[in-house]
Amino acid sequence: MPGQAGWDGSLDGLYRISRDGPHVGVDRISGGRYRYALDDVWLHSQTTPQNTGPTILFGPNHQNLIQPFKDAFDEAVDRLKKKKDCAKLFGGLQNALNTLNSATYRLFNDPIKTTYKDGKFVPSVTGAMTASGNTVFINLAGPFFNGPDLKMSGNRPFKADFGTGLKGTDLAALLLLHELGHEIGKWGSDAGVGDKDKNLEHTMAAYKACF
Ligand SMILES: [Zn+2]
Repeated sequence: MPGQAGWDGSLDGLYRISRDGPHVGVDRISGGRYRYALDDVWLHSQTTPQNTGPTILFGPNHQNLIQPFKDAFDEAVDRLKKKKDCAKLFGGLQNALNTLNSATYRLFNDPIKTTYKDGKFVPSVTGAMTASGNTVFINLAGPFFNGPDLKMSGNRPFKADFGTGLKGTDLAALLLLHELGHEIGKWGSDAGVGDKDKNLEHTMAAYKACF
């Protein structure tokens, strides 16, 4: 028992309850699980389920990215808590937080692509994506960790902030909130270009509600 000599930190075990006038004594005793006297009780340590937060599986070479990820995660949580429209967009605060916290976060590497269209170089890069089973993949080459100023082929700079002006932790939080929309099934695929760019539409919906 806590405070007792020889206590090993665990409450699991057999205890003898004794009475001495108004006092009740509880002593740990040795004995089998199924063989004890009437006044002996078996106590189990009770572990209260903790909300441990998201599962972050970044691998040994990217442990340095865990803290920046956590900062972005906390920022997203903050915005859900402080902005009613933000929580509402994602099915209410509790639903949003449960989904965020039960997700698994991994990294992948999808290099920036450059296409030449109508006389211009046009970059495209994935920020993050959500796979089935509530796993979010964050692109190492995208704006989550390096944004918003990225470079396409030929060392040509571009801003990967969707026109929001966000950077750093805020921009990364926006990406997490975009993915949250996929996780809860709020929006469908990100397909489409130009006016039909669903990816941008989803990002802007999260931006307007949460920033
Ligand atoms: Zn998306």
